[in-house]
Amino acid sequence: MHTFLPIAYFENEFVPFENAKLSIATHALHYGTAAFGGMRGIPNPENPKQILLFRLNRHCQRLSQSAKFLNYELSPEKLQQIIIDFVQKNKPTQSFYIRPLVYSSGLGIAPRLHNIEKNFFVYGLEMGDYLSPDGISCRISSWTRQEDRSFPLRGKISAAYITSALAKTEAVESGFDEAILMNSQGKVCEATGMNIFIVRNSKLITPGFEQDILEGITRDSILTLARNLDIPTIERPIDKSELFIADEVFLCGTAAKIAPVKQIETFKLSSHRPITEKLRDKLFAITENKDPQYADWVYVVDLP
Ligand code: PMP
Repeated sequence: MHTFLPIAYFENEFVPFENAKLSIATHALHYGTAAFGGMRGIPNPENPKQILLFRLNRHCQRLSQSAKFLNYELSPEKLQQIIIDFVQKNKPTQSFYIRPLVYSSGLGIAPRLHNIEKNFFVYGLEMGDYLSPDGISCRISSWTRQEDRSFPLRGKISAAYITSALAKTEAVESGFDEAILMNSQGKVCEATGMNIFIVRNSKLITPGFEQDILEGITRDSILTLARNLDIPTIERPIDKSELFIADEVFLCGTAAKIAPVKQIETFKLSSHRPITEKLRDKLFAITENKDPQYADWVYVVDLP
């Protein structure tokens, strides 16, 4: 069971988490007409009166774009201020995860985005490592990632996560930790809530945006870090067979951070992962605000 932060933002005010309740007739619950965000924060290891939020403005911008797909206007600036207030009210003492959700809150029947009330809420929970940092095993999913022509894949639309849920359960129930999904072209796409990178001949390779991936913020951070570390990066389609012979494979996302892959289907991967480890150490130092070069990726919230 999760440990939730005590205060939630719900129906335009801050309330105790337990009091934030929805009707069973809530439209989004029936049609998946919602979109969520997910960002991480930690107490500043150097100063307990400060909370560090990783790439707050980028996360707010993406949720604002997701809201647009739902026919709802939510400015990144408004969202950012609510999240800062949320953190100040909760005063987290452990590493945590913030979950904002935009949704059709009206009590209406029939799927649509017009003529139905929308709202958003924010809550949080304590969160340590999401997947084993020592290496995970992956199955190639029998489920295919949706196509952008049938789903706005640049938003984190709740309804799309049925595919992730099917793929994750299929993987876990067949003895693996995580699933890797192919796209409709049969190329490597991403995991159930993470983007994917492979390393071949010291080059870092990841599928491009045209491969139906989510525009991951961790993915973006890793590409920037790698370029600044003079690691060659390539965004291109990846074939399934390349996964099995890659020198390194890792998954990345806000919750999972950087999760090295030790096995895919029956193929074992090397435990020598110099590039994965270099990027992981660097990203870790940045989230703790220990790297002045990337100080603008860390939003510092002063606690009252
Ligand atoms: N793909 C999917 C489907 C996701 O849900 C996530 C998590 N948001 C990611 C990739 C990784 O994105 P980010 O690095 O922005 O968390």
